[in-house]
Amino acid sequence: MSKNTPKAIRGTQDIFGADAEAFAFVVETFERVRRLYRFRRAEFPVFEKTEVFARSLGETTDVVSKEMYSFEDRGGDSLTLRPEFTAGIARAYLTNGWQQHAPLKVATHGPLFRYERPQKGRYRQFHQIDAEIIGAAEPQADVELLAMADQLLRELGIEGVTLHLNTLGDADSREAWRAGLIDYFGKVRGDLSEDSQERLEKNPLRILDSKDPRDKAFLSDAPKIDAYLSDEALAFFESVTSGLDAASVKWTRAESLVRGLDYYRHTAFEFIPDEGSAAADALGTQSTVLGGGRYDGLMESLGGPATPAVGWAAGIERLIMSIGEREEAPLEAMVLVEHDAGLAEANRLLANLRAGGVVAEIMATGSLKKRYDKAVKQGPKHILRVNETGYYSISGEGDTSRIVAAINAETSP
Ligand code: ATP
Ligand code: MG
Repeated sequence: MSKNTPKAIRGTQDIFGADAEAFAFVVETFERVRRLYRFRRAEFPVFEKTEVFARSLGETTDVVSKEMYSFEDRGGDSLTLRPEFTAGIARAYLTNGWQQHAPLKVATHGPLFRYERPQKGRYRQFHQIDAEIIGAAEPQADVELLAMADQLLRELGIEGVTLHLNTLGDADSREAWRAGLIDYFGKVRGDLSEDSQERLEKNPLRILDSKDPRDKAFLSDAPKIDAYLSDEALAFFESVTSGLDAASVKWTRAESLVRGLDYYRHTAFEFIPDEGSAAADALGTQSTVLGGGRYDGLMESLGGPATPAVGWAAGIERLIMSIGEREEAPLEAMVLVEHDAGLAEANRLLANLRAGGVVAEIMATGSLKKRYDKAVKQGPKHILRVNETGYYSISGEGDTSRIVAAINAETSP
């Protein structure tokens, strides 16, 4: 690399090899599971008008106030690279009139952008899988969405990760809790971190999320949402938890779990590795792999009609860190062309093998010895040597029936 070769942008990654295989495995598994639950696939723009995020997430949130990649385009509009999926999906729901599909179960995946301090498990371009149920007010939607997340993590082979569940109540409960928190933290204001002193006015729930030791000292005695829950909000939460129990989704109550964005109501949750688990070791402190909740107020903040909805997103990079690397598909058949005159026959064999679902590769360059050495180096289960007359022979241990069947199958012209 010469000195004037441009470098990659800080906080971005080039994903390759075993990590890229793990990435594909996450997306493939997500695709399979979302079909089981009948979530419809959708694709969304990577950028939106800045106001889509500013209005949905709330101006005082970390994402909007510090983390957005916003820029003016050549036409003078303020645009933002999406820092999350939900706001853009809500915008799409409203502008496309997708009310006709309600309740709409929708799934997507792709890159997101946040101007954060890059570290292990935290990037400036990262990727998520995302699932939303829009236009469903009933707790059954929360249950289904969480059951899907739980099944996905199990099918990815991620163990030792638990669903931490809370309710933020309805708008009234949340407001009363907020007042209680302002009252409680207001009394110790001077002892809080600078960030939390600021949060006290704008976003007091966020203090509960603080990792600063000065704040942590006051967290355990802070008022809990349960004291403020309306009967309806309590009944809603109980329906969610009993649904989860019936579906055998394990969960634990996390009374001070709050989500960073303003739009959450009722159910809020995160899947977090258990202390001492392999996933916890792999992830370190950036431990939340999947998070979400109910956002009944979001559509209205975008000027739409009141629309209940619930969703989650999971960071693909963090899922990969918890499942570890994955091997590339093993090579089943290497077609070794011993002489150029055998090339046409080799290509015919290769086409049949691949059409028959056999992972196959060809080696046709260099001296015969080089070809042979390079072929063996790739570790194929079987080698098919094709000579100058087009005659082939199979070597290697184990069952060759799949290979023979693929070669002899009638292929349509
Ligand atoms: P955190 O508390 O770790 O900052 P968050 O609450 O900002 O997470 P969400 O907005 O809920 O995260 O995003 C959902 C998931 O996306 C997270 O649980 C995490 O797996 C992943 N994620 C969020 N930000 C990043 C990032 N900068 N790099 C990699 N993954 C991320
Ligand atoms: Mg964050």
